[in-house]
Amino acid sequence: MFEGRDIKTAKIVSSDDLRFLDQVDQDGYVCPECSIKIIPSSFRKENKVRPHFKIPAGTDHLAHCSEALRKVYIKVSRKQFIKSNSGEPYLLVGRLAEPSNHREVVEQPTTGGNTSTKIKTGHIPTKELADIKHENKPRKRSTVSLERIVDDYIQFPNNREVSPLELPGVEPGTYATLFKEVKDVANPETGKSMVYYCKMAFAQKAFIREDSIVVFLAVGRWVPSTSEVKGHWLNQLTTVLDTKGWNSRHTENILDEINLVNELARASYKTKSKKNGYAFIFGSIEDGAFRVSNHRHICFVYDSVV
Ligand SMILES: [Zn+2]
Repeated sequence: MFEGRDIKTAKIVSSDDLRFLDQVDQDGYVCPECSIKIIPSSFRKENKVRPHFKIPAGTDHLAHCSEALRKVYIKVSRKQFIKSNSGEPYLLVGRLAEPSNHREVVEQPTTGGNTSTKIKTGHIPTKELADIKHENKPRKRSTVSLERIVDDYIQFPNNREVSPLELPGVEPGTYATLFKEVKDVANPETGKSMVYYCKMAFAQKAFIREDSIVVFLAVGRWVPSTSEVKGHWLNQLTTVLDTKGWNSRHTENILDEINLVNELARASYKTKSKKNGYAFIFGSIEDGAFRVSNHRHICFVYDSVV
């Protein structure tokens, strides 16, 4: 999971923040919903997967916690539309909150939902669900972690159209309307904010330029190799992360994370794996590039995204 409650401050923190702490307290976090102990993981520089919290071996989320249900659903959710036992569509986390304004928002799951006929539907024939009796209970709908929103998008492709989503400062929509894959440089509308995502150009390392990190995206016109010239991009889209005010460790941590995702993507390209390196950016295109100053508004993911 991508967020936890700091037991000293009672604040909910994103796992992404773990990388910026001088010291991470292994005993300092609990599940924001059911308060079981969770362990900060993969926050070190050399770790190849994104920072996250895991639960200690042999323990589990309490039955009323929505993480318990989610764990069952993600076994099949990439292939089918997820409905709860009561027949309502399963809704993804509904709101990205800024940490300073974050209150734990608990709402009743909305009813109905426009289930389009092209969505595959299915049941979850697992007895594990019988043990989870809380489906009509309120569900936590807000997160401080873009990672969590992105993970729901990736894990539940068939529930995107029915799941409302609110992003700070943006007209509310659904996961289907507020995420957009950018494959063509002419594709995103200048100035319109939503969560864009693109494959990363894994052969090109991200680098620090003055007060920014420049990340190369696999969007533009690819010119194949000839006997004289190596293959290269023309009009290539980039992401420029404004690092003014960040400390140097913070900047280097993010740079390392980007280049690790690139490395994994490059290795998987050789094995023809479906996984790829993706940049998810909450923001808009300005002057031909994504420009982001808030590190919470960007995440880099090595996964397959449909
Ligand atoms: Zn829990």
